[in-house]
Amino acid sequence: MLGSFGKIVVGVYVEIKRSDGRIHQAMVTSLNEDNESVTVEWIENGDTKGKEIDLESIFALNPDVAPAEEIAPSPETPPPPTPTSVKVNKITKQNRRTIAPAKNGTPSRDNRVVSTRARPAPPQQLEPSPPPAQQPAQPTQAQTAQQLANEASLHQLSRKEFGQLSRRKSNCVKEVEKLQEKRERRRIQQQELREKKAQEVDTTVPNYEILYMIRDFRASLDYRPLSTTDLIEEHRICVCVRKRPLNKKELTIRDLDVITIPSKDVVMVHEPKQKVDLTRYLENQTFRFDYAFDDSTTNEMVYRFTARPLVETIFERGMATCFAYGQTGSGKTHTMGGDFSGKNQDCSKGIYALAARDVFVMLKKPCYKKLDLQVYATFFEIYSGKVFDLLNGKAKLRVLEDGKQQVQVVGLHERDVKCTEDVLKLIEVGNSCRTSGQTSANAHSSRSHAVFQIILRRKGKMHGKFSLIDLAGNERGADTSSADRQTRLEGAEINKSLLALKECIRALGRNKPHTPFRASKLTQVLRDSFIGENSRTCMIATISPGMTSCENTLNTLRYANRVKELTVDTNQVIEGVRPNIHVVDLLDNDWDHLGSSPQRDDLKLLCEQNEEEVSPQLFNFHEAVSQMVEMEEQVLEDHRAVFQESIRWLEDEKVLLEMTEEVDYDVDSYATQLEQILDQKIDILTELRDKVKSFRSSLQEEEQASKQINPKRPRALL
Ligand code: ADP
Ligand code: MG
Repeated sequence: MLGSFGKIVVGVYVEIKRSDGRIHQAMVTSLNEDNESVTVEWIENGDTKGKEIDLESIFALNPDVAPAEEIAPSPETPPPPTPTSVKVNKITKQNRRTIAPAKNGTPSRDNRVVSTRARPAPPQQLEPSPPPAQQPAQPTQAQTAQQLANEASLHQLSRKEFGQLSRRKSNCVKEVEKLQEKRERRRIQQQELREKKAQEVDTTVPNYEILYMIRDFRASLDYRPLSTTDLIEEHRICVCVRKRPLNKKELTIRDLDVITIPSKDVVMVHEPKQKVDLTRYLENQTFRFDYAFDDSTTNEMVYRFTARPLVETIFERGMATCFAYGQTGSGKTHTMGGDFSGKNQDCSKGIYALAARDVFVMLKKPCYKKLDLQVYATFFEIYSGKVFDLLNGKAKLRVLEDGKQQVQVVGLHERDVKCTEDVLKLIEVGNSCRTSGQTSANAHSSRSHAVFQIILRRKGKMHGKFSLIDLAGNERGADTSSADRQTRLEGAEINKSLLALKECIRALGRNKPHTPFRASKLTQVLRDSFIGENSRTCMIATISPGMTSCENTLNTLRYANRVKELTVDTNQVIEGVRPNIHVVDLLDNDWDHLGSSPQRDDLKLLCEQNEEEVSPQLFNFHEAVSQMVEMEEQVLEDHRAVFQESIRWLEDEKVLLEMTEEVDYDVDSYATQLEQILDQKIDILTELRDKVKSFRSSLQEEEQASKQINPKRPRALL
């Protein structure tokens, strides 16, 4: 019960109005029930002064100490007020100012919020008012008693009076102190929380709410990253993911890292989404692979779990392949070729070199030393279905397949290498050849596959081969509907080759009647590495961490996931047995095969195997491209043949003409021979002209087909 004194208790500070109009604070020293007044005291010019003021005047000036029902609830009021509770307001600069006279001498009434202070404090000097110091620390009970004692002596109260005062105050003071302590604790907690959050989240970051959500999510995870002590498992097919750190460009635009790798084989993508009501949320997608490397993982560590186990394979007469797959800029070249510091690439830190290093280490082992193996290296590039030798000035090479399905890259330079340094030099030569004349390393590499091979030979015969491939950027597979033919053809080849690669790797893990190797140059060239009992492969899917790459990253992860989706179907026929129709010697180019070529049969198979990803329009486009590319090859070949033939014709005609200069030349013979030459010429030239006509119409067909593709389909493909 508050009673008629409302919240006024002894020790409380209230505002009082002086006869000259000044308003200042004074401490209540007694409650006078008989005349409903209070006695207040204050210090003025070093003297303690006192006054009795009726309750009405006090309440008029201090509405917040008036009985509860008269007080408007304040958000800071601790609910509900107890009989002994006093509304305690924070001391602000303003309420301190109220006790000082205004500059012009009129009372300052700019603050009507605060006037009471439950914590007994030394009465404040009226003037001059000291500048407000920091709020003093909460006094302890002992300190409060000491203060009361001081005040008592200040006010020259007798011992007895002090005892009474002190006792009277104690309960209220305790109560008030408790409340204040609580509030102070709360305030400090809130302040700490705010500071912590302010440290964690910079609200100037674009999408900071997403960042916040990701942080919260990560905080709940139990991290168990891969370590060097983890077991290196033996996989015939190993599929893993490597996340690179945010790069300078991403940091500049303050892109968010949306990839989390909580354990040695799990990758999480936090994809920002928006609900219909525009609220944003995260869709967390989880993928599992053989290994997941986070952004702190070194090349050496990635190598240890991926390519290193395959080095032994080639010593054991096997074939090994290791691919870096991912979007441009995700770290494929960094992983395979080595670290770039500024413009220079440190090849020795790439998987190419690390594998070479271990090949030479293995070579010295007694069990392999006795085999007397020679090491060779090749380095070539596949661009738009064509092969270029990077160790021979980018010479264009032909890929041929004989009747026994043996694929040959004709004229590919195989360099003899004796040590790691030899290999490093070759890598440097190849890299500079690859990127020469390019505006940026990525401009060309995003559109071509680079293949580096380490070949072991024994007395000239192939013993084992390790192919390490830095694939073209997978996002380029979506370029099939570009307005520019060159870009379209590049896109088509990349699209096809990555689909075919997936099928080939899958075929390693299960027996299939036929794998569409011929659908792309990449898989055709690597065919021998996929077949055979002792073949092993590893795919490193590289991903960018940024939110801006989210879609491409998800496509990469889905692709990598499908590569390892292995189910063994024992009913299938063993690889290698294929219908005879496919066994066509490519050297024997013949127009009769145009309707169905091994390449196009394989392409059809590939598209059937990937029906969900390849729309009928995209398939038609691939067919059109395939036909066009075949025709181009044949027109070029025929044209070269005609050119050679023309030289012979010229020589023959020259002989014929010289013959006519003789006095008695045989006119009959001359006429017959000339007619023969002309007939031959006409036949051959007509054939070439017809082929060129067909070729031109195939160019048009390709263009038409490209316009039919729904641009969304191929994007979803990779
Ligand atoms: P890609 O070959 O996939 O197009 P790059 O290997 O050229 O991509 O990488 C793009 C950029 O990112 C390069 O500057 C590279 O140095 C850097 N980078 C890639 N992976 C990492 C990594 N794991 N750690 C540090 N930087 C990396
Ligand atoms: Mg690259």
